Amino acid sequence: MFYEEFLKINKELIKKAVNSGDKTRVETAVKKESVSYEDFLALLSPAAASLLDSMAIRSREMTQKHFGKNINMYIPLYISNECSNECAYCGFNRKNKINRKTLSEEEVKAELEGIKSLGYNSILLLTGEAPDKAGLDYVARCVALARKYFTQVSLEIYPMDTDGYKKLVDNGATGLTVYQETYDPETYKKVHLSGQKKNFEWRINTPDRAAQAGFRKIGIGALLGLYDWRTEAAYVGAHAAYIMKKYWKTEVSVSFPRMRGSSSGFKPSEIISDKELVQMIFALRIFTKFAGITLSTREAADFRDNMISLGVTNMSAGSKTNPGGYVGSESEGQFEICDDRSVREILDAIKSRGYYPVFKDWADTFGGNK
Ligand code: SF4
Repeated sequence: MFYEEFLKINKELIKKAVNSGDKTRVETAVKKESVSYEDFLALLSPAAASLLDSMAIRSREMTQKHFGKNINMYIPLYISNECSNECAYCGFNRKNKINRKTLSEEEVKAELEGIKSLGYNSILLLTGEAPDKAGLDYVARCVALARKYFTQVSLEIYPMDTDGYKKLVDNGATGLTVYQETYDPETYKKVHLSGQKKNFEWRINTPDRAAQAGFRKIGIGALLGLYDWRTEAAYVGAHAAYIMKKYWKTEVSVSFPRMRGSSSGFKPSEIISDKELVQMIFALRIFTKFAGITLSTREAADFRDNMISLGVTNMSAGSKTNPGGYVGSESEGQFEICDDRSVREILDAIKSRGYYPVFKDWADTFGGNK
């Protein structure tokens, strides 16, 4: 399990490497076909900041070589904003007085039909962590319902055990995203105040349990703004490389969500600039050439448009972060959306750059998907 690997990583060495760096090493790394973990740390360092142009060219070349000029489109559907955890940064924190809602199956159906009519074939179902209100059976029923409309049904839900995940895979779930939020145990403790999510080890081993249960795609990431971004990115890279090696049949994708405003009122301790986010994306692409890279509507339209040809492979469009949001419910969202363009506008932006928005990237008959 990754926790054992995590304990072997010398954090002080990583911190030192990502915060110093050597320009010559960066220049050499950018030209290599396969870069080592030490090269990756150099690509994250301040020394690499002046070489962003060559990193961009390399990131574009590698992405086109392994993914073509394709952007996989997905859309999030929040089916519940109930939560029994108290994460200081989140609008769904149980202490927040917000309108809570868990969609009935009829409401889920209405949302699915509305989203399907936009042309999507890939959906991401999300919940907070409230097993008594949105438990395994409920999520499994929602997955089975979603599979009637969509070829790919991914989940961003609370960590479960392997048997729970198997049940979701048996009902048709294809992907699971679970952010570690922060890989620094001290910071983790400070921002996760109560509830099951306090358990760092349980969370960090979630991608292992998901891969063992048979999810085809696994998404990981750190919530940027809680801790030193270079160190977080170094751990995300180590985690992605671990999953890719150990569970080679599983496709890994990485996301770098920057903290945005939410009804929690939480202020990030770190502000990550566009330039820094771009460096992280390039470094990750050069280190893990087969990993998908996701850029959500948390980011601004201009920024997303500029990144289309530089390493990103998955994008959302037309997102709502509140349950029932697609049919006009007034429940509360998890965080603020920054790119609020329509699906059509985002598709046009992708096409105008010579890229193809992809709504379905495999067929049911291929690979024994249920
Ligand atoms: S981050 Fe997740 S677990 Fe934490 S309060 Fe928000 S919804 Fe709940």
